[in-house]
Amino acid sequence: MQLDFLTLLATTAISLFMISASLPLIMGRNISASARYVQASLLLQALAWAAIIASTYVPATLADRILSTVSIGCGSAAQWMNYRALAGWLGPRPWPRLLLVLVVATPLGYFSSFGSYAIRVGWANTLLAAVTLLVARATLQPQRPAETGWRRLIFVSMLTMAGLTLARGIVGAFTDQYPSFRTPHPVNLAFALGACVTVVLNTIAMLVAWRDEAEIKLRELAVTDALTSLPNRRGFEKRAQAMLAHARRHDLPLTALMLDLDHFKQVNDTHGHEVGDRALQLFSRLLKETRRDGDLAARLGGEEFCLLLHSDASAGAPLDQRLRQRLRQAAPAELGLEIDFSAGLAVLRPDDTSIQPLLARADRALYEAKTDGRGRLHSATQDAMN
Ligand code: GH3
Ligand code: MG
Ligand code: MG
Repeated sequence: MQLDFLTLLATTAISLFMISASLPLIMGRNISASARYVQASLLLQALAWAAIIASTYVPATLADRILSTVSIGCGSAAQWMNYRALAGWLGPRPWPRLLLVLVVATPLGYFSSFGSYAIRVGWANTLLAAVTLLVARATLQPQRPAETGWRRLIFVSMLTMAGLTLARGIVGAFTDQYPSFRTPHPVNLAFALGACVTVVLNTIAMLVAWRDEAEIKLRELAVTDALTSLPNRRGFEKRAQAMLAHARRHDLPLTALMLDLDHFKQVNDTHGHEVGDRALQLFSRLLKETRRDGDLAARLGGEEFCLLLHSDASAGAPLDQRLRQRLRQAAPAELGLEIDFSAGLAVLRPDDTSIQPLLARADRALYEAKTDGRGRLHSATQDAMN
């Protein structure tokens, strides 16, 4: 088998251009920042290979120097885009500043040292290898839930490319076996073959990452209320179970506050459904602002909300008061009307085996608050608290 360096590079460039052209068609317009970074990275890689191929057809002059530098610059910028995509999917990644410095220094050093073949080849390949290594590193230790499969694929292909790039730099800088960038030296051919293969593997991995991202978003949507962005009943039950387990394990109290807007049907009837929706959004915002970190606020349905607190019953009344006060101030200002709510409070009992009996007691207390005249808090253990 005879491998020709330029043919391999041309094949890689063509693959990259075809992928770059077709990805926007299959992924559509409405994509995440990470997906856009991947598309940009693929296009930059395609340009990098195209420029380096073009540079072999111009005389060894300024044109060669510029085309080659553009190629190196596109190649390192493409890795920056990969890194940004990974940061979007996995959370903040290590060493962003170092990477950025390397990404900028790679083409600059290459351009300035163009007169010396050994220095420019050594410089560009060593720095590109370091950049690629940092991108490989960025696939590890995700800060958000992420599958290992696609990350491993990117890790292995980046690591391989980093190794081959470094080998190329060493052969170019310290030996005379590699006098031109198209020399069919085994290291150079392995590099071109590696580039050809990793383009395919990386594209597959990135597509799987993109699919995972969509799946995580869908799962998130299924447990989130669209109007208020609070957890919906399903989301509430999932998290409430986790809070119950936590409370049991650490012997912590757990208090449920069931909240229902008063005469909300009238708000809709008098002011229209749109104002009703805004009232629900306002109430949700105040709930989020009033609860403490670690407390769970959710919209269980319609105009009914629940707060679950890692505190005992004594925290319920002050929280209820704070919320009432904020609502009294904000509703006239933001909606042009007054709204109020009734609340029922219950605490976790040692014999509660699930969250349901706790919620049922809070619900009964809420019902009492309603029948007692609304606009107040009732506790399942005591009489009216205000
Ligand atoms: P009460 O004081 O007894 O709670 O009376 P209420 O009118 O608040 O209670 P009821 O259960 O009779 O009516 C609840 C109303 O909430 C009826 C429904 O139109 C309204 N509602 C439920 N979900 C939404 C929503 O997403 N947007 C709007 N605008 N209204 C909603
Ligand atoms: Mg109501
Ligand atoms: Mg209701």
